[in-house]
Amino acid sequence: MKIKFLGGAEEVGRLAIKIREKDYDVMVDYGVIPEKPPEFPLPPEPVKSIYLTHAHLDHMGALPVYYHEYDAKFYSTIMTANSMRPMLEDSIKVTNIEGYPSRFDIDDISSLYSSFQNVNYNETIVDGPFQVTAQSAGHIPGSTMWKFENSRSILVTGDLYTKETMLLNGARPQKADILIMESTYAGKNHEERDQVVKRLRQRVKEVVEDGGKVILPSFAMGRTQELIMILSDMGYNISVDGMGNGISGIYLHTPGFLRSQKGFSKSVGKVRQIRGRRMRESALDSDIVITTSGMLDGGPVLSYIEKLMNDTKSAIFLTGYQVEGTNGRSLMENGTIKIAGATVKPNMKLDFFDLSAHAGHDDLIDFVKQVDPEKVILCHGDNRENLLEDLSEFDVELPFNGHEFEVS
Ligand SMILES: [Zn+2]
Ligand SMILES: [Zn+2]
Repeated sequence: MKIKFLGGAEEVGRLAIKIREKDYDVMVDYGVIPEKPPEFPLPPEPVKSIYLTHAHLDHMGALPVYYHEYDAKFYSTIMTANSMRPMLEDSIKVTNIEGYPSRFDIDDISSLYSSFQNVNYNETIVDGPFQVTAQSAGHIPGSTMWKFENSRSILVTGDLYTKETMLLNGARPQKADILIMESTYAGKNHEERDQVVKRLRQRVKEVVEDGGKVILPSFAMGRTQELIMILSDMGYNISVDGMGNGISGIYLHTPGFLRSQKGFSKSVGKVRQIRGRRMRESALDSDIVITTSGMLDGGPVLSYIEKLMNDTKSAIFLTGYQVEGTNGRSLMENGTIKIAGATVKPNMKLDFFDLSAHAGHDDLIDFVKQVDPEKVILCHGDNRENLLEDLSEFDVELPFNGHEFEVS
C-alpha cells in the first residue's frame, strides 16, 4: 500500500491523504487552511473515491476544486454531507467579501453532491480492493474514522475526540495494522471537561446575577450546539445568532448522530434563534448570546461586543482555540480586537474555557495503545514530534506533504 499526503501532514489544516492499493487510488479528505486567503492542498490527483471524515473546512473546503476537474464517488455520513453544504457556500461568500480569487463556485458544490454515497456508522462497503467501514470519530456530529481493509487494515481518524461530551459520545478505538492519526494537541492536555463545564456554568451565573450579559463567540458547528446543551437548563434567557442556527436545524433533522436527539431538541426549544436584523436589535435583552464567529473575525459577535464594550459587568467567554492572527487571539493576548478596521479594547470581563473537540496528548497515546498498530502515521499537527517519546514502543512515521511512501 502507498500513502501520499497532498496536504495536512505537518500542519493543522488542508488534510488530503491519498491511499493506493494495486493501482486503485482513494483519498481521505480534501481540505483547506482557512486562512486569509485560504491555502489549498497540492493539486488534485484522480482517484476512484473520496472519503470525508467531517464537515470542517480544513477537511473538505477544497473538495469542489477536485470536482471542478475530476469525478469520483464521494462517501460520507449523511450528517457530514448535509452540514458541509452551508459551510462551503459560506466559504464562497467570505472569499467574495475578502476579494480573493475564487477557486470554485456554487455549481461546483452542487455537482459534487451528484457523486455522494451515504455510509452509516458501523456499515462496511466494498470499494475496489478495500472493505471500508465507518465509525464515529467523536469530534463533531457525523465525524467519521474510516477503516480500509484488504490483506492489511488501515485506520484513518480524521479529527478525533475520545471522551463523552453533552452532545456526543467519544470515539472508540478499532484494532488496525496501520493507524493514521491526527495530532493537533501533541504535547498538550486539556483540563477535565466536567470541570470546565462546571466552571463555565458558575462564571455565567456570576455575571448574569450581577446584572451583566455573557457573549459566547462560538463556532457554528458542534460548539454552538454543545453550549446550548450546557447552558439551556440554567433558567436564563439565551439568544443564538449566526450560522449556528442553521446547523442546529440540520442536527435536528438528521437523527442518529447525537448522544441524545431528544435532549438536544429540548435544549434548542429553550433558546431564541435570532434571524435577521430586527431580531438582532433585541438579542441583548437576553442574558446570554451564543454567536459566530468563534474567533471574532466577523459575524454578528462584533456588533454585540460593540454595544457592550463599556459594560464592565458583562463578559466575553471564549470556548475554542484561537488561531494566531485572529481577533480572538489578540483579545486573549492584549485585550484588543479590530472592529471595522479600528482597534478597540472592550472594557468587559474575559475568560477562557477549553471545550476542545480534539483529543489531548494523553488521550491520543491511550488511543494508539488500544488500536495497537504495527505502524503509526502522525498528521494534522504542528508539533507531532511531542508524541514520539510516549510512543517509543511503536513504529512511528512523520510524513511530509507531497512525498509518497510505502507501508506494508
Ligand atoms: Zn475538525
Ligand atoms: Zn481538522
